[in-house]
Amino acid sequence: MTDTVRDILLAFVRVHVLHHAVVERIYGAGMAEELARHGYQLSPGTLYPLLHRLEEDGLLISESEVVSGKVRKYYVATAKGRQALKDVQPRLAELVDEALPEDSNNGTRPSKRRKPSR
Ligand SMILES: [Zn+2]
Repeated sequence: MTDTVRDILLAFVRVHVLHHAVVERIYGAGMAEELARHGYQLSPGTLYPLLHRLEEDGLLISESEVVSGKVRKYYVATAKGRQALKDVQPRLAELVDEALPEDSNNGTRPSKRRKPSR
């Protein structure tokens, strides 16, 4: 994978993380599983700094909680994070519309009119 492709995929990951942090509380290991479900294999050395960076930028806020005897850091989107996602969404929709040919999705591409389910 080239550096450019990696950069592009990491940008997708940031959008994905932000989306989940808007709709629910997320944490590193859970997010890694969710991303794996979408075909992204991220090492903790990539995912955790990415989460920290989003928090440093004020898009996420974290709180620590002890779960099964271990400290787990949960993140949720801040108002700034929600706004950032809103700012990105129309551009994302337009890009999908333009860069993805209609017949490339095997019918799995969601309709633009469908309300996001989560
Ligand atoms: Zn997801």
